[in-house]
Amino acid sequence: MSGRRTTRPPDLDPRFAVPLRGVEVDVQTRCAHYAGSTDVVALRCGCCATYHPCHRCHAEVTGREGVPWPRARFDEPAVLCGVCRAALTARAYLGSGHACPACGAAFNPGCAAHRGLYFEAERPAADR
Ligand SMILES: [Zn+2]
Ligand SMILES: [Zn+2]
Ligand SMILES: [Zn+2]
Repeated sequence: MSGRRTTRPPDLDPRFAVPLRGVEVDVQTRCAHYAGSTDVVALRCGCCATYHPCHRCHAEVTGREGVPWPRARFDEPAVLCGVCRAALTARAYLGSGHACPACGAAFNPGCAAHRGLYFEAERPAADR
């Protein structure tokens, strides 16, 4: 809003109640990069607080990498279920067992492999 960048990110997607942007986003937040049946979440970014279907969407629409959602804000909404449009806290999403706690829609379990891109990692436990 107050930056002096010459290129402005594209407009937010008006189909969603939350600020959301991506590439070829469908009504359940699938995108050009992840379009499988269970790719129905959009994740909020720590740098811009905008939801994106995936990290590649963020890179394409903003021209830079996203920032993982900070642990200090894990009790704030950070994940949008594209099926029921519930906004889940990071904690609720990460503890959901790959299904929406609100509507039961299955989420892609493969997302866990990219968790560090979207959610700030826990510090390694000192006494494990
Ligand atoms: Zn961002
Ligand atoms: Zn994408
Ligand atoms: Zn849902």
